[in-house]
Amino acid sequence: VATAAVGAWTVSAVPDTGRRRDYGDYISLAETFPAVPDEAWQPFRERYRAFFPVADHWLDGRRCWLLQGHATTILVDAGQGPAAGRLIGSLAALGIQPDDIDLVFLTHLDLDHTGWALTEHGVPRFPRARYAVARAEWDHAATPAARMRYERWGAYLDERVLPLARLDILDLVAGGDEVATGVSVLAAPGHTPGHCALLVTDGDAKLLLAADAFHHPAQITEHGWTSIYDDDAAGASATRRRLTSMAAREGLLVSATHFPGPAFGRVVVEGGKTYWKPT
Ligand SMILES: [Zn+2]
Repeated sequence: VATAAVGAWTVSAVPDTGRRRDYGDYISLAETFPAVPDEAWQPFRERYRAFFPVADHWLDGRRCWLLQGHATTILVDAGQGPAAGRLIGSLAALGIQPDDIDLVFLTHLDLDHTGWALTEHGVPRFPRARYAVARAEWDHAATPAARMRYERWGAYLDERVLPLARLDILDLVAGGDEVATGVSVLAAPGHTPGHCALLVTDGDAKLLLAADAFHHPAQITEHGWTSIYDDDAAGASATRRRLTSMAAREGLLVSATHFPGPAFGRVVVEGGKTYWKPT
């Protein structure tokens, strides 16, 4: 498991990969990024060989993050759930049991980020934790019109997410809020309307947990390459541009949910363009 020290925080990238246990899933580039012509991928194939297991597919890694510090244990995102994910086993390998978690921060409410929020009996999978999500995301997901967007891969909101509100353990937050010492919410809309990143700061050490603002490292360079998973192409592009320039300018350590390993990297500038550089 890859870890990063951010001052007093230790941040672990916790694998939640799916069918291909060690790597994640192979997904067609053409299906994921229908507007991007195949030849446009070529420079990225050469630069990021490990991200292209076969030439016309990308490798979808899946991870959550564990933050330990300031006598607090935070889980960022709740994975794919028992059907596909292995988050709980990955936490156990780190010596973490579900009742060790104080806060579950959900970057957004897609199925692959909320799968372990509640058990099949509708009780919290992390029994001592409070749960936090952006109010914009919560309100959107609760509207009937949004349901199709979230439930493309199966119904889950009514049983596995929305009951959080009735359990009196949910905190609705907004960009700029601090959810723990040095852990602040960054509104990063576009993928979903209320999608959020987290910025972990301790003195000069800074880490951006970008969640699904980026699905492929090529998007660190090509901000306008929108995947079929993004709700709002223009908003998602603007978020990628903003996060990328902030990461380059401030030398942030960066991690994204769906990049296969290495889990942490930085944004570097070469020839006037920004690129992902795994650490
Ligand atoms: Zn995702």
